[in-house]
Amino acid sequence: MYTKKLIHEKMFRDPIHNYIKIEYPLILDLINSKEMQRLRRIRQLGTTSFTFHGAEHSRFTHSLGVYEIARRICEIFNQNYSQKMNPTNGWDSSETLLTLTAALLHDVGHGAYSHTFEKIFDTNHEQITCKIITSPQTEIFQILSKISATFPEQVAQVIQKNYPNPQVTQIISSQIDADRMDYLLRDAYYTGTKYGTFDLSRILRTIHPFKNGIAFKESGMHAVEDYIVSRYQMYWQVYFHPTIRAMEIGLKNLLKLAHDLYPHDSKYFKKTSPALIPFFEDTFQLKDYLDLDDGVLNTYFIEWEKGKHSTLSELAGRFLNRHPLKSVSYTKDSKTLMNELKKCIADAGFDPLYYTEMNSSYDLPYDFYRPETQEIRTQIEILFANGKMKELSSLSPLVAALAGNPQKDSRFYFPKEMLNGNQKFSEILAKFAT
Ligand code: ZN
Repeated sequence: MYTKKLIHEKMFRDPIHNYIKIEYPLILDLINSKEMQRLRRIRQLGTTSFTFHGAEHSRFTHSLGVYEIARRICEIFNQNYSQKMNPTNGWDSSETLLTLTAALLHDVGHGAYSHTFEKIFDTNHEQITCKIITSPQTEIFQILSKISATFPEQVAQVIQKNYPNPQVTQIISSQIDADRMDYLLRDAYYTGTKYGTFDLSRILRTIHPFKNGIAFKESGMHAVEDYIVSRYQMYWQVYFHPTIRAMEIGLKNLLKLAHDLYPHDSKYFKKTSPALIPFFEDTFQLKDYLDLDDGVLNTYFIEWEKGKHSTLSELAGRFLNRHPLKSVSYTKDSKTLMNELKKCIADAGFDPLYYTEMNSSYDLPYDFYRPETQEIRTQIEILFANGKMKELSSLSPLVAALAGNPQKDSRFYFPKEMLNGNQKFSEILAKFAT
């Protein structure tokens, strides 16, 4: 039977979790599928390595890490808190394989330079993840269907957060899930920063299922608190770093220009960048999406840099050779000055459409359950010995300071050359409050 465990389990070495343990033939086959192997060729953090040069890890390695955290959670639940021991609040052991599968596949729809690519070509990695899982032409679908005819659909439901068992969905997606715990530790490790670290083993020692989800025992509260603070710091020190955003904007403007030029010179793009044609023409199928990876796009950028379209060549060179745009913070008051800056930039010969950007980063580090908000969050529950539960921010003054307190940074991006003696530009820039 395919659901049975492997006779000899496989161990993969991992810098974050030491070992990743593969116990089921299903998981091994999924890892070996074409669609999963493709994730080796897509960087987890896109353009981040232009700023933190160590951050070259792939979406493949993150996916294995999420699987391993989910596996450890299921192991603890199966050993200590199964429904056999506690019918009301226990864990249903028959959900284990589904949970592990959803953890492994949760990011399989990510594409080349995912977030930037999505903005220009209107693709959606979450929808594509579900498409890969439920489309008969993929290897992943074929493998999942060996479990049962409905299994692919169940995996997609977990990833879309509409699977009926909240314990399963919260392991994969909540304010403290296997996904976030892996990417914080992994991104901290590969960027070389020390912000994202927290005591994962302590958190796992205190994780506990209950009827409506997962909770953490009181003895794990400070480890959970530390995780929230680490997450907050990683967002501001790494994910929202102004130079990382500058490289993303440079990439976005490059793709935008190629998209705009395509109708005027389709022959050129058919020759230099054939795999992008279905995206320029908005006729792409799943197969076209799976043909792309970071390497394919980088090869096209090298072609464009050498090519005949001068602005395209210039923007490709800026991206490949790391010439990020510069930026200034703006507030509501200084927003009106932006048009004056853009005029200066246009006078200096840079098309503001491809050389500027107003960019805002926004994050809400943690929030408790608020039914009135647009994006309702599952709050983190702390479980006491008497069986009572309390929401985390009501116990932790540190988390209370971050709860419901959105953090925002708005910046205007412009070419670095504008800082080289353009007096008018400097005068307007000086009016921005610092
Ligand atoms: Zn992920």
